[in-house]
Amino acid sequence: MKRCLMAVVLAFLLLCGCLSTASVSVGGAAPASYVPALPMTSRVLVDGEPVDLQAYNIQGNNYFKLRDLGAALNGTEKQFDILWDGAESTIRILTRQPYTAAADAGSAPSEASPEEAVLSNATLLVDGMPAAVTAYNIDGLNYFKLRELGTALGFEVSWDAEAGRILIGTTGTEHETSAEMQFGAAAYQYVEYIQNHLPSRIAGTQREKDAGDYILSELEKDGYAPDQLEVQSFEFQEDGQTLQSRNIIADKKGQSEKLIIVGAHYDSIGNHGVEDNGSGLSVVLEMAARLVNQQVPYSIRFIFFGAEEGRPLAKGAAYYVKTLSEAEKQNIVLMVNLDSIMSGDKEYIFGGRYRSNGTVTELWAVEQVKQIADGLGLDMLLVPAMDPSLDAPSDRSDHVYFMAEDIPCVFLWAGNLELLPISELRQTEKLGKILHTRNDDLNVINENFPGRAQERLANYAALLYHVLTNTEEYSE
Ligand SMILES: [Zn+2]
Repeated sequence: MKRCLMAVVLAFLLLCGCLSTASVSVGGAAPASYVPALPMTSRVLVDGEPVDLQAYNIQGNNYFKLRDLGAALNGTEKQFDILWDGAESTIRILTRQPYTAAADAGSAPSEASPEEAVLSNATLLVDGMPAAVTAYNIDGLNYFKLRELGTALGFEVSWDAEAGRILIGTTGTEHETSAEMQFGAAAYQYVEYIQNHLPSRIAGTQREKDAGDYILSELEKDGYAPDQLEVQSFEFQEDGQTLQSRNIIADKKGQSEKLIIVGAHYDSIGNHGVEDNGSGLSVVLEMAARLVNQQVPYSIRFIFFGAEEGRPLAKGAAYYVKTLSEAEKQNIVLMVNLDSIMSGDKEYIFGGRYRSNGTVTELWAVEQVKQIADGLGLDMLLVPAMDPSLDAPSDRSDHVYFMAEDIPCVFLWAGNLELLPISELRQTEKLGKILHTRNDDLNVINENFPGRAQERLANYAALLYHVLTNTEEYSE
């Protein structure tokens, strides 16, 4: 009896073509409610050029097929690529990447007829961040509200009433995507947590261990599996004592085996250490979260180094580099180190190798990163490696051990190199040096430089994200 009824229901669903839409609307107990979708008749111009887009008007708003739009915007400043994650019912958009057509997306828009639409519950992630975009499912395909897509992806939508045309603009005023607006937001929350719960993360102490445990638990929450995480313990000597510290490592597999290492140390001296280096570690944590389920061109190893502070410098990084085989070193295309990036007057990108004859070589990596920053409209300054005798910031953090092995390095730091002497690292005109002073405190930084912490974190997060998702080759 029950089976018979089931068969009738199935037949009915198949007859009215609802099965595919019904399968999308899982989870909700309420029955799906259908609304009419009318094929759209108005023409669409992208930067003045007419394009063929299949679209529907649903309750007064225009809804477009995402792939049509991807194809139409390909080659413009606002181009994007689309990845479908069926298992997670998630659509992933990568901004600024060329559109790649899916195998099943070759057909030209067909003559549309009036249809029934049902709200879709597929998730849309833009650069790893959820975007608030309404979508309807028609015949198993998702259609998105054009204006909301414009906000999420940074293109302009307007209506030429006289000509009855929809205008899409990808040039002109710089619009931020919703993900760009959110870059650094998660990092700032980590910084707040560090300020309130994890000050004085002195190498070898329980507090440093607590900080490492916190990082590990955040990575686990993000979805890193046990086989993607590694804790590398090491010993170091201080004042005749043997102390312990750890490097916390998270691996994200990419399309290529070639590896980019992203590093930030998580220990501090006896202050809050939000600048040095809560700021760098927080941006790296945000990146690990954003990229955990995203397809990336290069494999990425996020390393949170222990015991950077004190003498000798960067003991965690030194230990890590010592464990690498020659083949493993050869496999690293780039090392990006973030240290003290939140409160300085200016945003710097350091790179290149300083040679004893005064020349600087191997500038290609930093030049490539600077190009990405320029493309994003970020006002970052390229600093070729400085003379080590200046005791500059470029020679005082974890990347130096990678550099010594001829691994291409880029070092991100915010400060003010116009304030001399450079060796004093006067990061700000107003307060001088922030790192290694008691001004390394989020309250002091916010009071003296309102909005700066968020801005620096957002800019460096945006840069790092695009460095890690860049599909161009990193090479000389
Ligand atoms: Zn530091």
